[in-house]
Amino acid sequence: MRAPVRSRGAVLTAALLVTSACHRAAPTAAVFRTPPVEQLRADVDYLASPALEGRGTGTAGNDSAAMFIARRYNALHLASVAQPDRAACAKGGVTGKADCFILPFTASVPVRNAAARQLKTQNVAAIIPGHGRHAGEYVIVGAHFDHLGRDSANARDPEKGHVIHPGADDNGSGTVAVMEIARRLARRPTDRSILVVNFTGEELGLLGSSEFANHLPVPKEQVQAMVNLDMVGRMKNDKLIVYGVLTAPELKGIVDSANVAPKLAISAVGDGEGPSDHAAFYRKDLPVLHLFTDLHDDYHTANDLPERLNIEGIEHVADFTERVVRSLADRPARLTFQRVQTAGANRPSERQGSGVYLGSIPDMGAADVKGMQLSGVRPGSPADQGGLKAGDIIVKFGDKVITNIYDYTDALGAHKPGDVVEVLVKRGEAEVTLKVTLGRRGS
Ligand SMILES: [Zn+2]
Repeated sequence: MRAPVRSRGAVLTAALLVTSACHRAAPTAAVFRTPPVEQLRADVDYLASPALEGRGTGTAGNDSAAMFIARRYNALHLASVAQPDRAACAKGGVTGKADCFILPFTASVPVRNAAARQLKTQNVAAIIPGHGRHAGEYVIVGAHFDHLGRDSANARDPEKGHVIHPGADDNGSGTVAVMEIARRLARRPTDRSILVVNFTGEELGLLGSSEFANHLPVPKEQVQAMVNLDMVGRMKNDKLIVYGVLTAPELKGIVDSANVAPKLAISAVGDGEGPSDHAAFYRKDLPVLHLFTDLHDDYHTANDLPERLNIEGIEHVADFTERVVRSLADRPARLTFQRVQTAGANRPSERQGSGVYLGSIPDMGAADVKGMQLSGVRPGSPADQGGLKAGDIIVKFGDKVITNIYDYTDALGAHKPGDVVEVLVKRGEAEVTLKVTLGRRGS
């Protein structure tokens, strides 16, 4: 899950890609026989281990994680995605070469008042060929595998300096769940083909998923839906949040039918926008779902540790997701994409508090911004009516100084619907004071 500021990474070398993952034995043996809970535990322990140093995009640890995932897909005998510059990686064929699952690209990380940083990095992708008459169509299942690395600027505990941010929940949990789902689907394929993707650069602003969605290896018209798992490792009281259910009218029913024993307490939310990789696909007019076990105090800190995960919870998410994906892949008809008209706020940044609704859309990829930058406002919302605009940086809300999204969430929560609040924003070089009348969530 993305946060308000971004991190820095080093440029990788080809050598690092090859010699990666040697600090600790990567659990790849007996991949079809290991019980799910053991496999999930072993995989996430490795991904969140100090050896990978938090998997920051453009670092050796990130490259190692990518290679680890690629080796798994190779062990599962999945098919590779076409790579025009790699004759060795035949399109759609089983390759026997782990690096055929690596999709290298140069991520351009915007820097304020300076040239963008160029990071050599990679997504990982594989295909589980469908066996039915819709095998030429695809369901995309994805999760980002990058995290903050040692960067403190992007962390919620910057006072600790350049410590490792292990990112066990964010997003070791989604990564291992996707590998587990791939294992199950490889064993018993679906009608449509499954495109499994692990994204890099999410924490820097959905860089990997945007790259992938901009250069889809299959025709966009043939994609049924995209399912994203980001932070699914801290399940409490069987709670699972599912975003995106209104991005196709059929999705609510699919999600409901997939929720069989052990039944989860699902809160379904409509919107397809949000601070994670599914948004890159929603922006391409594809139906999306994002599964999420909610924020916690260890989010983006050095304490997002593997021992704090609910591994059985990850297994439940994998069970549920497998049913959703099978349903998407096996149903005779295509989904009908629809853009969501959100009446109220429903993202994590605005879910807390006192039922207050503003309609601001935080730009969670906005870098070292002091304040909270908006990527947009919802049409007709109090933010819109008050004159807030995309690109505005909220620096003061009422009498509270805003330095980041957490200040903002607190400030919003301290008010009640109907309050008229002065909002000070930076707009380019100018500072503008606006007045907003807060609305009620869901109204
Ligand atoms: Zn994150």
